[in-house]
Amino acid sequence: MLLFTPGPTPVPQNVRNAMADETMHHRTPEFEAIFEKTRKHLFNLFKTDEVVMIASSGTGAMEAAVINLCKNTLLSVNSGKFGERFGKIATAHGLKNVEIKNEWNTPVSIDAVINAVKANANIDAIAVQISESAGGLRHPVEELAKAVKEINPNIMIIADGITAVGVEPIDVTNIDCLIAGSQKALMLPPGLAILGLSNAAIETMGSGVGYYLNLASEIKKQKQNTTAYTAATTLIIGLLEVLETIEAKGGVEKLYVDTVTRANAVKSALQALGLHIYPQESAKSMTTIDDANAAEIRTLLKTDFEVNVAGGQDHLKGKIFRINQMGLISNYEMAWVVNAVELCLAKLGRRVYDGTANRIFNEITFGMDK
Ligand SMILES: *Cc1c(COP(=O)(O)O)cnc(C)c1O
Repeated sequence: MLLFTPGPTPVPQNVRNAMADETMHHRTPEFEAIFEKTRKHLFNLFKTDEVVMIASSGTGAMEAAVINLCKNTLLSVNSGKFGERFGKIATAHGLKNVEIKNEWNTPVSIDAVINAVKANANIDAIAVQISESAGGLRHPVEELAKAVKEINPNIMIIADGITAVGVEPIDVTNIDCLIAGSQKALMLPPGLAILGLSNAAIETMGSGVGYYLNLASEIKKQKQNTTAYTAATTLIIGLLEVLETIEAKGGVEKLYVDTVTRANAVKSALQALGLHIYPQESAKSMTTIDDANAAEIRTLLKTDFEVNVAGGQDHLKGKIFRINQMGLISNYEMAWVVNAVELCLAKLGRRVYDGTANRIFNEITFGMDK
């Protein structure tokens, strides 16, 4: 079965092997050496002033960001399940929350953000997804961050990059906190989250907030290549293997080029079948199709063609399907996925099978469309 859900993504064989070794004690020079190397790679990936790893799923890092960087009112962008989560985190911690809510296919308007910031002087942090995985939507985070900083440079910009870090280059000039999670573009099992932080963010958090999720105490330790509490040793060993593999295969810049090419090839292949792309602005992490037969296509993909893709949640349940494009993906696997979608449409009697999806995918991927 090919796993093509936009998280979890498949873990490469060499990474599984690396994680199969004996358990290591975390307070040893051996593990500290691994931690140090991993940190170096993370600085290269995040391009932020500081990076910190925590043993939690992605949501733990979202919570850490909100509690450490927001003291009064969080402005959150809700165009999907994950954007909604930021608001819920703020409320759970007794912070005030202002939300800009849109349909799940609609990117946030920068004017709406500017108006909200101008209307409420208590807003001290903004939380937004770079790639909102609920609908496969790309928000204009870099532009938003720049516009906000021009009004008030003290407002903290929290960017959830859980399906964006390792997918496409992100300009972190005006971003104070950039979040990644292990089981998406980083091709690891779930359980490790990473935050990239600006010096301004570190200054804002002071001695930090909370206990386990106190980022200030964690940073203090991680600068010395250790952790405040037991490190997720196995996942960090896996992360180092992933980051070294990316390096060996041409580096992150090459990964970004390959991912955007794959994203364009999949999108064009499926559009050529007459399918409709759901988001107004697609993230590079996944292709999301809205379709009356979305549920049937998803089931057929699994039962007849050994392809596992994701569906939708809440009001989009049974209405969309989402195909992953993150990570180191073999072209022959991706080509099979778009071909399998075409075969499903033929089975449903919607079009005669003629290999269009496979042809277009290959033409774009191998530059034969020019
Ligand atoms: C998966 C995901 C999360 C949540 O991560 P968990 O690991 O499930 O806690 C948050 N934001 C985005 C954009 C995601 O794709």
